[in-house]
Amino acid sequence: MQPLSVIWAYRRTGKFAFHVLTGALESDPRCRELPIEFANGTAAVVAAAKHALARGHKVLVGWSFYSPDFAQLAEELQEVLKAIRDERIVHIAGGVHATAEPESTLRAGWDLVACGEGERLIRDLVLAMRDGQELHSVPGVAWLDHGQLRRNARAERLTLDEFPPFGPAHGRHGPIEITRGCIYACRFCQTPYFAGANFRHRSVANIRHWAQYLVAHGFRDFRFLTPTSMSYGTQTAEPDLAAVEALLAGVREDIGPERKLWFGTFPSEVRPEHVTPASLQLLKKWVSNRALIVGGQSGSDRVLAASERGHDSACIERAVALCVEHGFVPHVDFLLGLPGEEAPDVEATLQLMDRLVERGAKVHGHTFLPLPGTPFRKAAPGALTAPVRTRLRNLASKGQLYGQWEQQEVTARELVRGRALKSHKIL
Ligand code: SF4
Repeated sequence: MQPLSVIWAYRRTGKFAFHVLTGALESDPRCRELPIEFANGTAAVVAAAKHALARGHKVLVGWSFYSPDFAQLAEELQEVLKAIRDERIVHIAGGVHATAEPESTLRAGWDLVACGEGERLIRDLVLAMRDGQELHSVPGVAWLDHGQLRRNARAERLTLDEFPPFGPAHGRHGPIEITRGCIYACRFCQTPYFAGANFRHRSVANIRHWAQYLVAHGFRDFRFLTPTSMSYGTQTAEPDLAAVEALLAGVREDIGPERKLWFGTFPSEVRPEHVTPASLQLLKKWVSNRALIVGGQSGSDRVLAASERGHDSACIERAVALCVEHGFVPHVDFLLGLPGEEAPDVEATLQLMDRLVERGAKVHGHTFLPLPGTPFRKAAPGALTAPVRTRLRNLASKGQLYGQWEQQEVTARELVRGRALKSHKIL
């Protein structure tokens, strides 16, 4: 057995993934005492690795990133490798991008890829490393063997109650993940691919346990992570409002009337067909937010059907009207430049945006990214015409539209450029 240090290549985007992994290590008596460093930036990673090696430790450096950040993180890895190379250091990449693209991730320089959920894998990996066992035997890891991709089958999917939602012993908190996986199959989304095409819910008792913990540690805002807020407790497309109410009423009891309970808003959202008089009345009774984030995506029924969203544009309009009627400000997400979108589809989306903002909604604009692991992964990047950009900027200038849609148009092109380089084996 050799001492081991864990270093997270820690950054703002994706930091909650590290908090979850930290919780997984803290909550296992076999790895509770492992030193964990949160190293922000390449210089910090190098310094932490040198310090650990100087103490005679092996070092596991964990990286996690989304697809748009892959190229930058690959550069950062190379910076670290230039500064310190040692056979006692293992660099592992995890998250949705690495899972979908293990081979190019490994070719970019990482020693291992963690495919799928990280909680069990990270425990197995640190124990194998510490005990001098073969790392390639760990379920879910991928590696290159003489240039060929090899990988182990992923471990069984976990139940959320088995693991804490964050790393309390290291003071690393975040939203409580209440549901993982998604039964919907929106063709642009990485969630079903990565986390499974069914819902796994954290129990109300477990959520309340962590809410009580946060209250005891002085937190005043309570947020939840879920792919679709009103799906809590159900296994189907039909919401289980009794389950949602049991969750919200229970947490409200724990946090009292003054602390803020956020639901159906950042960092999660509500599907439009789940916005009903009954669901809004329930939310109004328990939650603090009066803004709801509604997934709309397109004003074209043709594009919505091709994306397998499972609702039409009339459903989005109904949801917005109901939100306003019940005193909520709807913030509607749109995805511009979806595959197959033609001029009449774009016009339908812009006209729908206009009608929604007239009713009092805000529009959150995104540009389509052909993300690895999704059915649309080979599609062209989302692109906007100059007149469309002008109309969107006009909405933005009136405070009716916000979001990273302009930057994402650039990101989408870069993502596809990286894909072309990989297919020519330049990466
Ligand atoms: S976009 Fe939302 S509803 Fe659709 S598959 Fe992804 S998480 Fe599920």
